[in-house]
Amino acid sequence: MKHGLIGLAAFAALASCNPQAPESTRVLAPSAIGVDGAAIINADATPDVWLSHGRTYSEQRFSPLESVTGANVGELGLAWMSELDTARGMEATPIVVDGVMYVTSAWSVVYALDAKTGERKWKYDPGVDKSRGGMACCDVVNRGVALWKGKVYVGTIDGRLVALDAATGEVAWETVTVDQSKPYTITGAPRVVKGKVLIGNGGAELGVRGYITAYDAETGEQAWRFYFAPNPDKQPDGAASDKVFAETANATWDDAGAWRTDGGGGTAWDAMAYDPDLDILYVGTGNGSPWNRTIRSPSGGDNLFLSSIVALKPDTGDYVWHYQTTPGETWDYTATQHIILADLTIGDQVRKVAMQAPKNGFFYVLDRATGELLSADMFQPVNWATGVDLTTGRPIETPEARFLETPFAAVPGPLGSHNWHPMAFSPQTGLVYIPAQVIPQIYVAEQPGATPQALWNTGVEFAQAGPTPTLNERQALRAALKGQLVAWDPVAKKPRWVVDYPTPWNGGVLATAGGLVFQGGLDGRFRAYDAATGEKRWEVETKYPTLSGPISYEIAGEQYIAVTAGWGTAFPLTAGGDALETVGSPELGRVLVFKVGGTAELPEFETFEADLIPPAARFGTEDQLALGRTLYDRNCMVCHGPLVVSSGVVQDLRWAQAPATKATFAEVVLGGKYASAGMPAFTNGLTADEVEMIRAYVVMRANEDAPAPAPQ
Ligand code: CA
Repeated sequence: MKHGLIGLAAFAALASCNPQAPESTRVLAPSAIGVDGAAIINADATPDVWLSHGRTYSEQRFSPLESVTGANVGELGLAWMSELDTARGMEATPIVVDGVMYVTSAWSVVYALDAKTGERKWKYDPGVDKSRGGMACCDVVNRGVALWKGKVYVGTIDGRLVALDAATGEVAWETVTVDQSKPYTITGAPRVVKGKVLIGNGGAELGVRGYITAYDAETGEQAWRFYFAPNPDKQPDGAASDKVFAETANATWDDAGAWRTDGGGGTAWDAMAYDPDLDILYVGTGNGSPWNRTIRSPSGGDNLFLSSIVALKPDTGDYVWHYQTTPGETWDYTATQHIILADLTIGDQVRKVAMQAPKNGFFYVLDRATGELLSADMFQPVNWATGVDLTTGRPIETPEARFLETPFAAVPGPLGSHNWHPMAFSPQTGLVYIPAQVIPQIYVAEQPGATPQALWNTGVEFAQAGPTPTLNERQALRAALKGQLVAWDPVAKKPRWVVDYPTPWNGGVLATAGGLVFQGGLDGRFRAYDAATGEKRWEVETKYPTLSGPISYEIAGEQYIAVTAGWGTAFPLTAGGDALETVGSPELGRVLVFKVGGTAELPEFETFEADLIPPAARFGTEDQLALGRTLYDRNCMVCHGPLVVSSGVVQDLRWAQAPATKATFAEVVLGGKYASAGMPAFTNGLTADEVEMIRAYVVMRANEDAPAPAPQ
């Protein structure tokens, strides 16, 4: 009842609001039940709330709030902190309406918190089978919920879309959006457009066919689906994508190739934006499955719609246009990265543009009505291509980049020049703020007949050979990793300013009308910069990697800045302890909220303490150890770290008790002893003998890295 009344009031306020009114003209913000298309389209009139993932359908992540400025940002302090109940990566952007914050943690758990105090109102745990963690390429993260007419929507890591009552957290409806026998995962936030909940999926490292689906927000009934890779027989699916595949897209794939069994990829696991005037939905799509095109589509081809921005009609899923950033993708260069819509004056014309800084290192500006490429320029070092031909729209590839005969040391690597961390655009400065990075990778084509990876399936060899690198060599590798905040001028096509960081993988960005940009870091800090100059205005220790997209909201005249933090996400997980300055401890994720004059305090940071004693004495012949390393690199490394050095997100196997005996190790790896903690059983991929070789390698590495015994 209460919600209904407030909803009506909000509706009346919105109805009387002239959409052309100046941005300073505020109206009463809607309650949760009043959040609909009109409310999101008019979001600039209600800057005190944050109604959708990127705040507006244009996904600019620009807050019109202006009471926190360069003059008082130094007085920001912690208003409240809320510990969530799971201890893995935090990537969620909160939604705030009606004094309530809706936020997700790892394992797709949803929380409703009092946005002023952090007090928990309800929690919804979808009860995901934790062994699904082995299918989550990039940690069991979740990037947030959508809100529409009193319901909260979350995609779960096991491929469900769940609608919850915003007031109580009770399930309103639930639907399975994937074939759960396949390694699909959902980490992205849903969006709601014209009464339809839009949700994609991930899993193209392991072998899936990507698509996006629209469901009726009220009932959960499927409205349409659009696939981004072909039907395995190139036959119609009864989907919105049938027509364009028959006409053009099928022909860009070999008739044979691993795509037919491995799904082809093109997963839409993060970016969406919507232009209500053009009535076009924009979706970013992912890499090929498997990565290596020579295996995926042997005769070549562009392989539509991998690594593309695809424009669709939101009512029907009908195809409008596409732009493919990386034709014939072979490096895991997804174009799922954040898409921002803005109106820019280019030359003497105002252009309606869509902008993206995908993994491949080029910043793209497209005409969003037609898909015409307006510019594409390197925002980070790139060596796989020398540029983009603006006439054809195609990259000018470096011939050796496709690693056909010889390995290629690529910049960027599969983690990209920019990953999921949201950008921001300030209409005041005209700049796009990009969390950018350099993480190189040597690509080696998987040899025919090689032992396949048990879960991951890329056609790229992760296995390394040779002796364990020295500590100096390992540190030199870390020095090659870099991070930057790039303030990119999309009209001048160059950076206006940059901030250098000692590590890659820094946080998403928020821009505000107070002339500030906020960004967290992998180093456990949260900072504010002058949006025009990049001058640092404020910095606070958060003690945890602070990587998600920050938001801003206002209650009772006070402006709040909120961000989530935790230990995990893809880079710390896969790059391991050697890539990080500090090794964290797998503690609970948290929400941190700041305001001017905030006086709350963070709890003490618990440092990672491991028992640095090898679980057993080394064993195995040189050949067995070499095989053990190859098998470890193919099957274990992406979670437990290169050289068995974990970042602490999951167990560091060197100091674990499981490898102590053949039987205890097999109980875990084959028997699924820790499945409920996220460690899957590798029953389909590894034999007992192979598992024992992996144990030999793990035990050898533990003995190599164990501290020397104290002198007697
Ligand atoms: Ca990928």
